[in-house]
Formats: sequence, structure tokens, C-alpha cells
Amino acid sequence: MGRPPAAAGSGARRMRCPRCGFSVLRQLVGRRAALDVTADEGELTAAAAEALHHPDRLHWCLRATRDGPDMRWADCRRRPETCPHPHVIDHECTGPPASPRRARTTPVSDGQLTL
Ligand SMILES: [Zn+2]
Repeated sequence: MGRPPAAAGSGARRMRCPRCGFSVLRQLVGRRAALDVTADEGELTAAAAEALHHPDRLHWCLRATRDGPDMRWADCRRRPETCPHPHVIDHECTGPPASPRRARTTPVSDGQLTL
């Protein structure tokens, strides 16, 4: 019955992207509206990450904690040159599309959707 000592939901998990096999960090970031973040494992400086990001590709301030890496909202991006922490940026998957099935080809008729 051992419970993990870490606070619930904290910390990033290292894993491989199921689509392209790239090493990524996965974490729910944020307390009220948590985002399911998948970020490239490669660490950048805050300034480099800020230069790479765009509205659909956020970057995250990566803190080393006792329990492992922990991604945080990059509040430091207003002044990225002052942030001493490495940053990671959202993974842009180069693998095949997530769902091999197209929505229109399901044989189930509209009245038969099972949830
Ligand atoms: Zn991927």
C-alpha cells in the first residue's frame, strides 16, 4: 500500500512519443486549468525557447526537483535572459496523424454511438 511521496500531479515523466518515438517530457502543468503538456526533452535556454515558440507552441520553465524534472509556466518569458533554468518547448510531432481512422468512415450510424 505504498503511496508515492510526491504531491499529486507534480513532476514530468520521461517517455517516448507514441507516434514518432522522440524522447519527450509529459506533465500536467498548472493548478487550476492543467494542460497536458508534451515537450521535447532537449533543454534550451529561456531565450532560445522564447525565440522558437509561437502561439501554438509554448515553452516551459524546467525545474529540477527532488522528485525529478518539473515543468512550470514560463512566467519568466517576459525577461528570458534573466532565467537561470533550462526551458523545454512543446513537442511538434513528426509522426503519423494521431487517429488512423477518419471520423466519416466509422460504420456506426449516428444513433448507435456508444459512450
Ligand atoms: Zn511525436
